[in-house]
Parts: sequence; C-alpha cells; structure tokens
Amino acid sequence: MSKAATKRPTESVKPSSPPLLPADSEDSQLSLRLKQYLKPEDIEQVWAAYRFSAAAHEGQMRKSGEPYISHPVAVAGILAELHLDTPTLVAALLHDVVEDTGTTKQQISKLFGKQVAELVDGLSKLDRIEFQSATQAQAENFRKMLLAMSQDVRVILVKLADRLHNMNTLEVMAPEKRRRIARETLEIYAPIANRLGLNAIFQELEDLSFKHLYPMRYRVLAKAVKAARGNRKEVVGKILEAIKQRLQDAHIEADVTGREKHLYSIYKKISGKAGSFSQIYDIYGFRIIVKDLPTCYLALGTLHGLYKPIPGKFKDYIAIPKANGYQSLHTTLFGPFGTPIEVQLRSREMHNIAEAGVASHWLYKITDAHLTALQQQTHQWLQRLLDIQSESSDSLEFLEHFKVDLFPDEVYVFTPKGKIMALSKGATGVDFAYAVHTAIGNRCVAVKINHELAPLRTELHNGDHVEIITAVHAKPNPAWLNYVVSGKARAHIRHFLKSMQSTESAHLGGRLLNQALRALHADPAAIDESHWQKLMRDYGVNSKEEILTDIGLGKRLNVMVAHQLLAMAGGTTERGAKLTGKVLDRITIRGTEGMAVQFAQCCRPIPGDPILGFINKDKGLVIHTHDCPAIRKFRLDPDKWLDVEWDPETKRLFKVNLKLAAANQPGMLAKIAAAIADAGSNIDNVSMEESDDSVYTNMHFTVQVENRVHLAALMRGLRKIPDVVRINRVKGSGSEQRAQ
Ligand code: MN
Repeated sequence: MSKAATKRPTESVKPSSPPLLPADSEDSQLSLRLKQYLKPEDIEQVWAAYRFSAAAHEGQMRKSGEPYISHPVAVAGILAELHLDTPTLVAALLHDVVEDTGTTKQQISKLFGKQVAELVDGLSKLDRIEFQSATQAQAENFRKMLLAMSQDVRVILVKLADRLHNMNTLEVMAPEKRRRIARETLEIYAPIANRLGLNAIFQELEDLSFKHLYPMRYRVLAKAVKAARGNRKEVVGKILEAIKQRLQDAHIEADVTGREKHLYSIYKKISGKAGSFSQIYDIYGFRIIVKDLPTCYLALGTLHGLYKPIPGKFKDYIAIPKANGYQSLHTTLFGPFGTPIEVQLRSREMHNIAEAGVASHWLYKITDAHLTALQQQTHQWLQRLLDIQSESSDSLEFLEHFKVDLFPDEVYVFTPKGKIMALSKGATGVDFAYAVHTAIGNRCVAVKINHELAPLRTELHNGDHVEIITAVHAKPNPAWLNYVVSGKARAHIRHFLKSMQSTESAHLGGRLLNQALRALHADPAAIDESHWQKLMRDYGVNSKEEILTDIGLGKRLNVMVAHQLLAMAGGTTERGAKLTGKVLDRITIRGTEGMAVQFAQCCRPIPGDPILGFINKDKGLVIHTHDCPAIRKFRLDPDKWLDVEWDPETKRLFKVNLKLAAANQPGMLAKIAAAIADAGSNIDNVSMEESDDSVYTNMHFTVQVENRVHLAALMRGLRKIPDVVRINRVKGSGSEQRAQ
C-alpha cells in the first residue's frame, strides 16, 4: 500500500476534465478508490459533499488555472487511499469552504452533521494560525500547538493530506513563497507526519520540501542517485536472489525487496558530517517482510548464516519500538562484494504501522500491544469508536468519543512578537504575564486576546495571540490567587502580597497600639527604646515591626502589649477591668489602609453604615456592618470584636450589592445602567437570575459608591425608572457567591 499512498493524487483531476462533475464520474480515480471500501450510501455522502463544495468554490481558480475544486478532491483522494472514514472524506472536500467561500459552520452542521462541522471547524482554525519564528524549540511548540488544536486525529490527517497536495502543486507559486511553504513543511508538517508514524507521507513531504528549498542540490543529488541505482542494479539483483534462495531453503515465506533511502535522508547524511555521497550511497538496503513476529527472528538467524553480521550494528526495534510505534529488526551484514548490506526485517503488521502510522488503524486490524502512548490513545479511541458504531450510534455520544486531547496539561499561545509559549492548561492572562516576566506580572492590569480587551482572569486557548497591558503603579491583586494555575505566578503573587501585607499590618498595629496606650493615659512617644528592646527579648523577636505586625494581624492583643510596655516603664497601670479593650477610643477607618483592613464581602459596608471590626488571624482587621447576618452570633461576645468608626474624610469608592426587580423587557438593562452612570456610580458586576418567562426579572448589581448618601441618591434615581418594581441593598451571605 505504501507505493500507492505516495502516488500523486492530482492525476485524478486533470485540468482538461469537463466542468460537469468530473470527479464523481464512474471511472474517476476517487470514485474507484471509494468503491474499494465504502458502502454505496457512504459514497453518496461523499458525492453530496463534492457537489456542495464544487458549487461553493464555483468560479474560483487555483494558481495553476485549474478549477479550485480539484484541490479538495485531490486531498480526499489521498485520504481515501488510507481508507479513512466517510466524515473525514467529507471534511476533506469541505476543508476550504469556511475560509474561502463564507460558508458557516452551522450550514455545514445542518447539511453534513455535527461531526463533519467540527472537523471542518478544526481545519479552519489551523488555517488561521501562522508560524513565524524558526528556532528549534519554537518549531516543536508550534507542532504541539497544531496537534493540540486538532483534538481529533482526523483533523491533522486532513491537514497533512492538504499540505501534501499543496506541496505537489507548488511549482506555480513565486519562488519566495515556495521557499517559505517548503521550509514550513520541513520544520512543522513532515515531523508531525513522522511522529504519527505516517512514513510514506513523511518521506514525500521531506523530498518535496527539499526540492523547493534547494532546487539545485536536489537536482544534482537526484541525478547522482539515479545513476548509482542503475550501476548497482546487477549487484542488488544478485544479493536479492541469494537472500530469497536462503529463506526458501529454510522454509520461510518472505517478501524481499531492495530498499532505497529517500533523497532528503541521503542529503541529511551527506551534509551532516563526514562522508561523501559514495560512502553513504555505497550501502545496499533490503527489506524482508514475513508473516509474524517469531518468523522475524527466525529469518534473522537464517540471514546471519548467509552473510556475517557487522558487530554492534544490530538493533531490535521489536523488543523496544521507536517512539512513533515503529517496529523492525535492523542488521548490517558484510556483503559479497565487500560492501555493507542493511536489512530490515518485520512482520506484515509491523510494516503496515511503519508505512501508515495512526492511519493504519483505519486500514488494518491491530492486535499487537507494542504501541506508543499516542498510538495507544488513538487505538483505544478507535476501538471505542468501532464498538459504538456497531452498537447503533447515538450521534451526540458518538461525537463525545471523537474528542481526544493530545496534550491535556498544556496550552500554546503566541506572544505579541510571534513567539510560542507553553502554559499550563487553564492558564489565564495573569499566568501569561508572569510567564513573560515577573515585572510584567506584578504590573499587569488587562490583557488583549486576539487583539480584543479581556479580563485578566480569561482562560487562554490554543493559538491565542496574547498581549499584556501594564500600568506603572499597578500591584498584584489577592483575587488573582483564586484563578492563576501556574506555580510561578502563584509564588510571585504570594511573595508580593506577603511583603506588602506585613508593611501595612505593621502600620495598623502601630495605630492599634497607640490607641491602647492613650486609653491607659500613656503617651506613645514617651515609651523608651530600652523598653522596646526588653519586650523584643521577652517575645523572642528581632524587631519592633514584628510586634506591630502581629498586633495588626490579630496575633497579639494591643491592650496586652500596651500593658507590658508600661509595666517595663515602671508605671502602674490600671490592670484588670480595663483589659477588655472597652475603654479604648474607637479606631477610625479611612478605607486607605490597604491589605491590613478588609471590607467584608458579605455585607459590603460603606461610609455611613454603623460598623464593627473583627481581628482575623492572617487577614487582619475585617470590617462588617452592625447588622450583617454573617456576624450575628459574635455580636454577643465583645472580646471578638473591635469598636471602629468611619473617618469623616473617607473619600474612596466602596462596593455595594443591590438587588432589583424589573419588567422583563428589552432595553431594561440599558436604562438601569444609564441611571447608575447618571448618579456618578460605576457598575462592578451584574448578573441576572434565570428568567422563567415571568413578567419580572431579578437583577443583581455590584456598584461603587462613596457613602450612604451617594447610595440613597442612586437608589432614588433607579426607582424613577418605570417598570423597576423593587430595589434593595443586599447584605449577608446570600450575595457572597456572586461577590468576586
Ligand atoms: Mn487546502
């Protein structure tokens, strides 16, 4: 089958063909191939796709002057050679209609089913990404990106057939473009074909790339090889006869053929290191195919009896297969004329895998367990597919099983400079920013994905172009920790927050301590440095800041520290009753304390609300409203909370949750948004409850206001909208899930 697969499929669609449905005529090459293995109803589907594609591409020409439809027909022909299934052939015929004719995925889905639509969609996505950088590592990442985006092995198989046909018809392109496509084929597509074990396609892609990339070298080498092959004919014939005879004598049934290296592999060997053409070419290659695995070893022994093996040259790829699943025995023998003879021995089944790789699953039944992870995955997936198919298929479930994730842990995206980065699956804009550089991560404020602004938390997908927007004074946000997936981003964010938090907590701790001191009628400035030193020794810490940070974080009680400092100063304090903290002045909250003071997300206090403070280990001071349901049970326990009040000068904006019931009619959300803007407020978040066709819908808003007066004005404005029937502020846990 290998020879047939490498045949140019273009021959089936000569430009001279009449314009009237040439490909589906009874004796066209595609038609003949389809009849070999498809049922009549499947063939009819292929022709339906052909007619649709021909109509869609009507009037379009290839550069060669042929009608465009000749290209998809040729691609389908290559795949029919591999006996691929009907959806693959249909997708091959339709592979360019989305990009070139404006046909939509929905249309394809309606006419040819969801599965075909998914395949065509996958192919269109591959078409849209372009490979620029040429470094080794980047090429590897790009190959992975293509495979990851394919999801379905059949997508990449169609893509390879597409590329093969384009390479076969490259002559008409301008030299510059020809070289670019040839280089891309050599670096990206040929290695993918190799990796999938599609040997015939791999070799043809390499040789075609070689031809267009180095036309002179190709011509010289091709000529030399042709001449050498002529000279060698006689010798090869003699060795071939000797091997056949010896195997026959041993009663081993075998298919023995002379084997020629493909041009590009000869070229690589010559241009690689030492070795002239004659040295490399002066090796005879043979391939022996036998019926099963044990016979391989039997034939090997027989062969070693005929010619002596060269020590150190034997390789057992049957026991240890190559990464792409390739299996064979390789041995090199001392030939009769002093030249080495390279021999490959394999079973029929191994041969099929060697030539067609993953596609061999479609062509042949495979029983051998020696498959690589990728092949096993494909194999299992195929096995399941065959099971489902035979069981009568539910189309949705069917589709489920077609999805394979070749790189389940990674996602590949482009930087603005066209470099490809591999990130963990689920990575967001923040992960990307930190992957580029720590300083970018620490200063990122937004992300552009495929040139459109998106929230930083947006998950990135294969092939996305990602650009980070930074601001000089931006800082990492603790909320990022909720969605970053990479260890690097997480570690950097934590580190930054920790150092920032301890500074801010120390500041708050200082304020808390001073207030405790003043409540005890002591002047904070009068505390002697030596008392601090003694306290530090007592606590076993190294700095005053550590003690203040601990107070700010609630790990030490400000009143206790104040008493201890004063006791060292020798002053008598009114111990006992005053230790509860009740005598303290209230601490004022400005909202600018940073991370040391947090505003509870359950009730979202705003200036004007009566508030309470809770010292929370690790989080620092958390501010709730007096009536917050989340803290109701602690209210009776005064040791747990701290008297706080708003600083009248507080100026920043605070978030508050609103619930609003309004008529379920178009334009309502816009009216509400306008009223909020008119009141000088911003919308931070909005969500709507699932509407059950009722007249009214509940909407949830998180808006930003300065204080209660501002909020009251905003709510008045909203009530004036006709058909807003109810509006109220939400406090308590009910809103917590929605809070970011
Ligand atoms: Mn194409």
